[in-house]
Amino acid sequence: MASGQVEPEDLVHVLSPKHRPEDELRAVCNSTGQEDAFYLCDVDDIVRKMALWRRLLPRVRPHYAVKCNSSRVVLNTLAALGAGFDCASKGEIEEVLSLGVDPGRIIFAQPTKPAGHIRYAAGRGLDLATFDNEEELYKIRALHPKCRLVLRIRSDAENAKFCLGVKFGCDAVREAPRLLRTARDLGLQVVGVSFHVGSGCREEEAYSRAIRTARHVFDVAAGLGIQSMKLLDIGGGYPGERDDEPVILKMADAINTSLAAHFPSADVDVISEPGLYFVASAFTLAANVHSKREVRNDFGDLEGVMYYINDGVYGSFFDTLLQRHFVGRPLQDPGDAPLVRSSVWGPTCDGVDKLEEDVLLPLLELGSWMVYRSMGAYTIALCGTFNGVPVPKVHAVASAETWLLLKERAPFTDAHFTPSLASGRRHTSASLVEPPRRLGLSLQAPTQAGDAM
Ligand code: PLP
Repeated sequence: MASGQVEPEDLVHVLSPKHRPEDELRAVCNSTGQEDAFYLCDVDDIVRKMALWRRLLPRVRPHYAVKCNSSRVVLNTLAALGAGFDCASKGEIEEVLSLGVDPGRIIFAQPTKPAGHIRYAAGRGLDLATFDNEEELYKIRALHPKCRLVLRIRSDAENAKFCLGVKFGCDAVREAPRLLRTARDLGLQVVGVSFHVGSGCREEEAYSRAIRTARHVFDVAAGLGIQSMKLLDIGGGYPGERDDEPVILKMADAINTSLAAHFPSADVDVISEPGLYFVASAFTLAANVHSKREVRNDFGDLEGVMYYINDGVYGSFFDTLLQRHFVGRPLQDPGDAPLVRSSVWGPTCDGVDKLEEDVLLPLLELGSWMVYRSMGAYTIALCGTFNGVPVPKVHAVASAETWLLLKERAPFTDAHFTPSLASGRRHTSASLVEPPRRLGLSLQAPTQAGDAM
């Protein structure tokens, strides 16, 4: 995007060294006229996650799963850091290509694609896609015969929040040989195997099992005379909340060990499709208490308070309907204020629009703010506008270090960066030229994620 054409939503607010993202959150909440719910996105957190990924899993090139959170600042940041992208639809492909990302950095990771989306991918030079069924092979032969195909197999974690295997992935023993044979006989090129163990996985062994099964499928393909197998895609599922790093360390260990055992040759490229890992902890939601209702017994004693905030299950909290629990806290530190039994409700007229039940909160004034952390994954992406409730806007912040790291990497330009509200106007002067040491990333341009494919 040319300098001067940056939309307000695409701006990144640069903090001075003495300010933190929390200061910016308060500054936005306290700014004149601010009533709508909004997200604070900490860009440093995404940069840190990429540095951690590259340190722990140097062989595995991440392709960010766009569906998880397609906010422009997330896509810009990951594109600037050299990530690849997992797109599941024409719309997601369009969005990523609009950033100037090369189609070679994208995998169309949706085993059941509408014909128009396949045609679009073919027309834009995107030639890597997953499949798990025969019909898809016939569709692809008709619409995009040069597409390189990745066979998605099913291998479910025993402990994951959301199982995807119920919908996608063929059986590696019963179905994979037949599908490989059909692809070969249709003259299609199968280049690899993918899996997704389930979103929010807590079981590192799930990756070891799946990698072992993928090895089996590679061997079956070799037995069928298929020489083109060069890609292993270990999917998503990695948790991404603030305290999840120990789980990630164990997963990385398990993955590295399994790759060394089953795919020791560098001839096989390894990619992944993390979604929530990159974004969960980077986003904090602030929602405004616009109404409340006191619940009293027959004697007039206060039994509880119902608070109504301006984001709910038809917005960022959709996953409440899937038994995910969200825990908020008031922005204002309650100190020693007495706590009262409370419930927190969303803004629509629907009775299921309830976010928290039977929680202890201090008495909150109308206009005060509730804050929800680790809200980056499958929240804003699932927001609707039922009852005319707007989708919360994203207010992005970065440290000066991150600003220096990103400001000259496409798709960012200088025009994307502006002083933060908390820090005032002066600190983004050219005098700030310290190299970005703390985040552990070099300024060297990363290798293109699509290079080796
Ligand atoms: N890849 C595919 C094919 C998916 O369906 C998903 C999530 O639905 C992801 C990657 C991202 O998964 P996660 O956010 O759990 O990392």
